Amino acid sequence: MQVKMAAGKAPSTSAIIDFVQQYKVTDGKGFKLSDYDPGDTAHLDNQSKEEARDLLQKGIEKLSALQEKLYAQDEWAVLLIFQAMDAAGKDGTIKHVMSGINPQGCQVYSFKQPSNEELDHDFLWRCQKCVPERGRIGIFNRSYYEDVLVPRVHRSVLEAQRLPKKLIKKDIFDDRLRDIRWYESYLARQGTVSAKFYLNLSLDEQKKRFLSRLDEKDKNWKFAESDLHERQYWDDYMRVYEATIRATASPESPWYIVPADNKWFTRLVVVAAAVETLELLDLSYPTVSEEQLQVLAQARIALTGAEGSHDELSEDDKASKKEKNAKKDKDKKKK
Ligand code: ATP
Ligand code: MG
Repeated sequence: MQVKMAAGKAPSTSAIIDFVQQYKVTDGKGFKLSDYDPGDTAHLDNQSKEEARDLLQKGIEKLSALQEKLYAQDEWAVLLIFQAMDAAGKDGTIKHVMSGINPQGCQVYSFKQPSNEELDHDFLWRCQKCVPERGRIGIFNRSYYEDVLVPRVHRSVLEAQRLPKKLIKKDIFDDRLRDIRWYESYLARQGTVSAKFYLNLSLDEQKKRFLSRLDEKDKNWKFAESDLHERQYWDDYMRVYEATIRATASPESPWYIVPADNKWFTRLVVVAAAVETLELLDLSYPTVSEEQLQVLAQARIALTGAEGSHDELSEDDKASKKEKNAKKDKDKKKK
């Protein structure tokens, strides 16, 4: 598919939406992870990083303007879910993409290995408590999807979930996937739209990133031995991610398969997808009723002692006032 975004000028909304379609999955039937290249940079590979940064900045500005409307309208909520293998860049992507957004309208939650209290409840419980309020963007850094990934690769994790033995059946993960699909559709019917991002990192690039965590002093803290351990299960994880995306991609809650071997490109795709998600809501600022307009007029009088002065009027108001005055003059002359 031809990508229409061009550096140097602000991309139009339709160009942004066209651009992300190649990464969007709304129907999981036949989905294969191997169809998606983690190193993909669309047509932008020959451009300087400077230009890519400029495009990202423009995308962030668009997102920020949409978020203002989301907040003002206060009806819809947006949930963005990030899933990936270690070192795929979830944290950095969230930081960059959300950098232009009013922090009051955005909530980020990270879901780690479940606590004792969390294990005492059903797997959706801890996430349900963090679903964004109307008017807000909520970000899940990992989510309930972990519960159809990790215990599928490590049976012992499922056993630690304290489920009644009778309920641990062969189809438990298919059932959970169905529950997730239903849950996301339930959220959508309640005005919380969700979109999911799989940061698609290659095994090779993960190795490079782990090595740089060992080589660079400032990155040492990021290295976890357990990450190396999980790396051995790479193929198993790919298999369960594929099954998960197949079962849970839907028009109301799509997956975006984001190329993750180049961080600058990952950010560009994520910001474009976030813009698309908000744009599809057709947001608008709340309109002011006749009654409220009267209240505003009274407030102006109370503040200034007079009706609105000419200087304070908008260009449209000025034009319409001028038109009215001209008509009055004409009527006077006729008389
Ligand atoms: P970082 O980029 O900092 O490594 P992270 O999201 O990997 O971020 P960590 O603290 O390294 O955070 O790891 C969280 C770990 O918890 C991950 O390995 C994840 O798979 C695991 N985890 C999260 N939720 C669950 C769950 N419900 N069951 C089992 N493991 C889980
Ligand atoms: Mg980790």
